[in-house]
Amino acid sequence: MQQSILAIFPHPDDESFVSAGTLIHHVKNGDMVTLVCATLGQMGRRMGKPFFATRETLPHVREKELRQACHIIGIHDLRLWKMQDKMLQFRDKMYLAGSVLQVILETEPAIIYTFYPKHGVHPDHDALSAATISAVEQLPLTKRPIVFGAAITKNRYEILGKPTIEMDVSDVFREKVSALKAHKSQTSHIVDQLNAVTANQLNGIKQIPEAYIKEKYWVYDFGTDSVS
Ligand SMILES: [Zn+2]
Repeated sequence: MQQSILAIFPHPDDESFVSAGTLIHHVKNGDMVTLVCATLGQMGRRMGKPFFATRETLPHVREKELRQACHIIGIHDLRLWKMQDKMLQFRDKMYLAGSVLQVILETEPAIIYTFYPKHGVHPDHDALSAATISAVEQLPLTKRPIVFGAAITKNRYEILGKPTIEMDVSDVFREKVSALKAHKSQTSHIVDQLNAVTANQLNGIKQIPEAYIKEKYWVYDFGTDSVS
């Protein structure tokens, strides 16, 4: 059955690192995938290796890179909010949740992918995932999408236990790597590693590191978890 899927992330490249394989699977399944990218990563410290971006050009560079990654993943509905990078935690919480709610009401997703609240490591990640939870909490129980959160803190297994799902994305590994490479300003420092991993896999020399072939999510439990 085809469904509406919503991915909500603050920075260009989060979608590729966290969920490229999962989203490619949804696209292949015929699902309608919407991606919200809240900022343009304007404050990112990486400018490519060797440098090819400047503080002034970085937002434009990152927007172009994101559009290319979306093309590779197969996302046609990209919502760029262009909010200020590294400032989401200081935005009015109601405003942020209201912005998320608007997209939810419009796209009526069956599943939302985002970071797991308090386990996103970066303040922008945690602010946007908290806003997402607040938005979903405004919906009646029967209308709520499932929220799958990617937890990347060191203590995630201790606190949250095992992931609810471990998506095997090894079949679309090369597309995931292409999406990551599209974010050239952010990934050119690891491009040799990405190429080596791909070559090793193709030649059957080594297994691909798990991070590239398994995308893990914890379902958010609205009954027991809290973002406040
Ligand atoms: Zn990020």
